[in-house]
Amino acid sequence: MAEDDEKFDVAVVGGGVVGCAVLRELSSLGLHCVLCEKGENLVCGASSGNSGTLHTGFDAPLDSLELRCLQRARSLNENFFMEYNIPYRRSGGFIVAWNESDLKTLPELVEKAHKTGVTDARQLTASELLQREPNLSSKALGAVFVPGESLVDPWKIPITLANLALAQGAMILTSCHVTGGKMQGNDWHLSTSKGPIIAKVVVNCAGLYGDELESIHGKSPFTIKPRKGQYAVFDKSAGHLLNSIIFPVPTPKTKGILVFPTIYGNIVVGPTAEDQLDRTNAEIDDTVIESLVNFAHTVVPSLRDHAVIGTYAGLRPATEFKDYCIDCDSQKGWVTVGGIRSTGLSSCLGIAKHVASFLPSLGLQTSDTTLTPAGMLATAADHNWTVTHPITKFGIFGKDSFSKKGFLKQ
Ligand SMILES: Cc1cc2nc3c(=O)[nH]c(=O)nc-3n(C[C@H](O)[C@H](O)[C@H](O)COP(=O)(O)OP(=O)(O)OC[C@H]3O[C@@H](n4cnc5c(N)ncnc54)[C@H](O)[C@@H]3O)c2cc1C
Repeated sequence: MAEDDEKFDVAVVGGGVVGCAVLRELSSLGLHCVLCEKGENLVCGASSGNSGTLHTGFDAPLDSLELRCLQRARSLNENFFMEYNIPYRRSGGFIVAWNESDLKTLPELVEKAHKTGVTDARQLTASELLQREPNLSSKALGAVFVPGESLVDPWKIPITLANLALAQGAMILTSCHVTGGKMQGNDWHLSTSKGPIIAKVVVNCAGLYGDELESIHGKSPFTIKPRKGQYAVFDKSAGHLLNSIIFPVPTPKTKGILVFPTIYGNIVVGPTAEDQLDRTNAEIDDTVIESLVNFAHTVVPSLRDHAVIGTYAGLRPATEFKDYCIDCDSQKGWVTVGGIRSTGLSSCLGIAKHVASFLPSLGLQTSDTTLTPAGMLATAADHNWTVTHPITKFGIFGKDSFSKKGFLKQ
């Protein structure tokens, strides 16, 4: 817990992938930072129920902040994963045309991808596709190949970021619910379930509760509209059936239902995109799972010979806006990082850089601090974080680690 008179430069609220990335970035710039996470564990919200796929942004809206953050992250991700031993594979992805109307849109998808900077995206014929993915249904009519789409361990990214922040002197408080706050002089005095926290600047990374937290600062500029995604997971015995991520042709609302290998060799089908009001209900619906499994069988027919050994669900912190809601009120020392709906795992390093670009206007002095690898390892060893992501859990501990229910228990 913070000392009575301890004053932080920055309090980050929310220990998902975005909060952990922001914490690490700001700590590495020499700022004295604290992260408050209301859950017992880090990575217990939206970040614990994603697909574990890294998106290049080939279909992101042009001129969006989302695309800018994804582009920034593209240049950082691979080095970061290699430096810190985060399991990662550049599997590539195919956007597959299953009917004539899909086939007609493929050239547009390639053109759009090139405009987003994904210049290696290209169209393949059905036979080129089936050469690369021989177990795919022969009903595929063609595809766009995006070589940069990748697989990663979705839990190790935020946990490594958290460990790096700790090694830079940050404090992480779990079971620390931020319930209110007010400005006194030039500082925020946050009320939390672990006592008061004083900080010059607050960064709101509260995911599914971003609009509620925002009310401490003023009227929220967005409303969270949770969007559930359910998944079914096949046994690792199916792992050899697919090399890459299989996408349908995307719609304006969603990337659609994917069939993809995880970094640990399971095959997964999902996610659905189900709008709901409830911010906690990540329950599994058996009928939805059945239709997902049937869909996977049509995409990769030999999956019929392999068992489904688990399910999970996550809730996206969607809002009424398509783009991320990131803003800085430099007068009041408040940064909003909200509505990081569907690409936060891929873009978190870019989002963190974007947040750091606000620091001069917030009046925070930075200095580059150098992290020694030994310091990093020592700190990491002190923290036995609970694995909260089903892809990691399942990949490392096997099928007994899976529950039939969703993983969100806030
Ligand atoms: C089904 C699904 C599939 C996805 N697939 C992908 C994918 O393949 N690739 C990709 O890049 N992205 C994907 N995403 C998106 C990605 O997971 C999100 O963009 C990202 O997890 C958002 O992270 P966050 O840190 O903003 O939110 P969260 O992970 O929700 O973190 C917010 C944290 O704040 C805490 N909190 C809230 N209120 C308070 C408070 N008052 N006090 C203290 N703590 C608080 C919460 O407990 C939570 O842990 C997917 C998401 C879902 C749900």
